[in-house]
Amino acid sequence: MEERRIAYFSMEIGLDVVIPTYSGGLGILAGDTIRSGADLKVPMVAVTLLHRKGYFFQRLDENGWQHEEPVDWVVEDFLQEMPERVAVQIEGRQVQLRAWKYDVTGYGGFIIPVYFLDANLEDNAEWDRALTHRLYGGDLYYRLCQEVILGIGGCRMLKALGYTEIERFHMNEGHASLLALELLDMQLAQDQQDKITDEVINAVREKCVFTTHTPVEAGHDKFPMDMVRKVLGDHPALELSGLLCCDGELNMTYLALNLSHYVNGVAKKHGEVSRLMFADYIIDSITNGVHAGTWVSWAFAELFDKYIPGWREDNFSLRYALNIPNNEIWDTHMKIKQNLFSWINRETNAGLDIDVLTLGFARRAASYKRADLMLSDIGRLKSMAGEAGALQILYAGKAHPNDQKGKELIQRIYKAREALLPEIKLVYLPNYDIKLGKMLTAGVDVWVNTPKPPMEASGTSGMKAALNGVPSLSILDGWWIEGCIEHITGWAIDEHTQADLTPRDDARDAESLYQKLAEKIIPLYYHDRRHFINVMSHSIALNGSFFNTQRMMQQYVLKAYF
Ligand SMILES: *Cc1c(COP(=O)(O)O)cnc(C)c1O
Repeated sequence: MEERRIAYFSMEIGLDVVIPTYSGGLGILAGDTIRSGADLKVPMVAVTLLHRKGYFFQRLDENGWQHEEPVDWVVEDFLQEMPERVAVQIEGRQVQLRAWKYDVTGYGGFIIPVYFLDANLEDNAEWDRALTHRLYGGDLYYRLCQEVILGIGGCRMLKALGYTEIERFHMNEGHASLLALELLDMQLAQDQQDKITDEVINAVREKCVFTTHTPVEAGHDKFPMDMVRKVLGDHPALELSGLLCCDGELNMTYLALNLSHYVNGVAKKHGEVSRLMFADYIIDSITNGVHAGTWVSWAFAELFDKYIPGWREDNFSLRYALNIPNNEIWDTHMKIKQNLFSWINRETNAGLDIDVLTLGFARRAASYKRADLMLSDIGRLKSMAGEAGALQILYAGKAHPNDQKGKELIQRIYKAREALLPEIKLVYLPNYDIKLGKMLTAGVDVWVNTPKPPMEASGTSGMKAALNGVPSLSILDGWWIEGCIEHITGWAIDEHTQADLTPRDDARDAESLYQKLAEKIIPLYYHDRRHFINVMSHSIALNGSFFNTQRMMQQYVLKAYF
């Protein structure tokens, strides 16, 4: 067994479009992190759950209503079963676990194994066998059982697989916090004592790293203490209310905060917001990125190979994109746009025109992301397209199966299509996944994001767009506060919010969005193409070269791991 010193735990990891074990940004970030870790030969191993039925396959009916279907995927075709077995206790029952392995190979041939935990074994009770079936499916109780498997089962599995030299356990979001309880137990056993002393806690803290990913309240798991005791039984840590947070609850975020020696948010602003939310803790920030080699389209990869050899191994060198001739940037972009549009036109009969300025918006249909902000004044949008220049809009995104508001949001957008015709063509593409994400971020002309600040901890799809020379028009929140240089890498929606005191609201943000489109972006696109292409190459050179997981991983190595 090759020596591994870092274990990376994540409830979701998105590695490939055929392995549906992710729901959105968190999982894709995890996959990109592991890929860059492999490129940089960081001695890591990763743990997640199998999610045999995936998150879900999204079907939209003729009314734009979302229906969820379990994803059918053949695990054996992509993952390798390991012979080891471990068990966790759930409500006093032994639940047996196995692991499936997937190797992520870096550009230099270095491999990071990812282990997918699976409870679907004959020895287990019927209900337990389904515990690793559905990502974010089921109720609170189901979720807690899954977190026992991820955190506690994951630690035991690593040990059984022979990873005995792990020095750092990285909890990618609080779903993995229970691993800290297992580490407490291991420390107690090693010290041959049964009392959790400060020394024991400090020894565990030394091993743990925690990344928090969202200011959204629902993103912080909390479980009632009686449920926790029922599932876990008696654990000495459950008596230490200071570790677990408050009022008869186990708060996974506090558990991780209390037992980690390094904690970070995922962009500078998100670090600030997290420090306000958790004032008693020292919280750093490491801004997210994306894996450049994965998200650059084939056409830009060819162009970069010609002008910036070695860009995959050295993402900083993408700064030299400023030397690529404008016409080649444009031709490359048009190849990808053409591909995307022929596919969409074939699938949907949308009649998209590649010469028309096309806006893209794709992300989870969570309310705070305000996917319909752009559509808040359809009359205005139509007359703008008539006067300033034509527009097309592409949408995609899934709502969580229990999120009625999210589903209504999708339906509103879907139905806006009729009202926008004939001036503006809008297409809502179903089943947003890694493949569609890659095609959309590279194939539209401008990437739009409209979260309600400060809820967008980072956001990463705009980074994928930047790598492909697609500038963003976005609210100044998350990564865009760091990435936006007005009219050079893209455009800010309402850039005055930070300084002035007028309360922001949806109407004001929509107004700013429309102004930027009508006065800056549309005229630039149609009447000053040379400048528009300059914005494209600056997106690559300034943002693609920085907002990648290679830079991010180097920061984790220096600040968090060693
Ligand atoms: C990149 C990506 C996301 C995350 O995008 P955000 O901008 O952070 O919301 C979600 N889903 C898919 C399929 C993606 O490719």
